Amino acid sequence: MIESLMATYNRLPVTFTHGEGVWLWDTTGKRYLDALAGIAVCGLGHAHPAVQEAICTQAAQLIHTSNLYGIAEQERLGALLTERAGMERVFFANSGAEANEAALKLARLYAHRRGVENPAILVMEGSFHGRTLATLSATGNRKVQAGFEPLVQGFVRVPYDDIEAIEIAATNRPNIVAILVEPIQGEGGIRIPAPEYLPRLRTLCDQEGWLLICDEIQTGMGRSGQWFAHEHAHIKPDVMTLAKALGNGVPIGACLARGAAAEVFTPGSHGSTFGGNPLACRVGRAVMETTAAAGLVANAAQQGEFLLNAFRSALAQRQGVVAIRGRGLMLGIELNRPCGELVGLALEAGLLINVTAERVIRLLPPLILAQPEAEQLVQKLSHLIDGFLGTTRA
Ligand SMILES: *Cc1c(COP(=O)(O)O)cnc(C)c1O
Repeated sequence: MIESLMATYNRLPVTFTHGEGVWLWDTTGKRYLDALAGIAVCGLGHAHPAVQEAICTQAAQLIHTSNLYGIAEQERLGALLTERAGMERVFFANSGAEANEAALKLARLYAHRRGVENPAILVMEGSFHGRTLATLSATGNRKVQAGFEPLVQGFVRVPYDDIEAIEIAATNRPNIVAILVEPIQGEGGIRIPAPEYLPRLRTLCDQEGWLLICDEIQTGMGRSGQWFAHEHAHIKPDVMTLAKALGNGVPIGACLARGAAAEVFTPGSHGSTFGGNPLACRVGRAVMETTAAAGLVANAAQQGEFLLNAFRSALAQRQGVVAIRGRGLMLGIELNRPCGELVGLALEAGLLINVTAERVIRLLPPLILAQPEAEQLVQKLSHLIDGFLGTTRA
């Protein structure tokens, strides 16, 4: 009974029973095109055979032992991930917020080891980093923070995609030790920074001895059309966090590091009971291997390009459409009015979408999206947006 659940979510009036690929079915048998993939989680879509196989095989063998012992599957996934990302070491957690907690603790420990007593981390307006106390304090959205004061200290906030603001903040504060940034802001409205932004952050971090921490929880694992979105900028962070698509729905998070950052944690400095257990890591490995073998990163780039162009030709001239932007299968259509209502209208029409930052329709379809499904998505959604704009006012 829903009354037994804490009222943390505004749920839509639908319950799904099963899925396959980009499709979901509800309790009445109605079929939906899933253009949200469980909020960028199910990159391989629903009921993927490789994920099923990984879960079943591993569950029959070993689910959990704890980090008191060696875990072969954790080592295997760790090797795959660090190699793919060009990083050196990884800590496994169970969610995005936990991966970011690890990164924040790592940055603080890095600072203290260098004699910075009261370290501060630069964070961005419009960012989202999670719902734990430290990650909601890092998040640049008052709604996420309101009522949970006192917030965790040690964050300095600046506007996103604004290098000068960082330079000014830095001149007044000798205690800055790191920058935490999403390469593309997801919850913030699919905001893609200028091409020089990440390279300039990298240069600044190198000059100042700060850690560049990329939150790739939403952008990573191929979604942007590269394995990791920072690759578009030809830079490497010192620390990178992952979660969402890494387990295709099986909870797993990861905090990767290289260089000095990779040597910060020592026995006792951080830990997790479940983190990196054989089941989650076996599935993470299946996700990585399948993503690579099926060419899904290239598919995300290609289908993303198709969607961007198709939505632009269908909607760009339409009064009320402010911007259509995207990279890979991470797309935002910004309207000149709040459009949360569209989520329910789309649901009725058999389409799952999301609206974020009040006015931005956000699409995060599975990376397995094929051309006919992409065409259906454009056709259905363009029609809905057209109708919505025609019957509402800015
Ligand atoms: C979803 C998300 C998080 C939080 O992940 P959880 O698994 O919900 O804790 C953090 N950062 C970004 C960029 C996200 O999109």
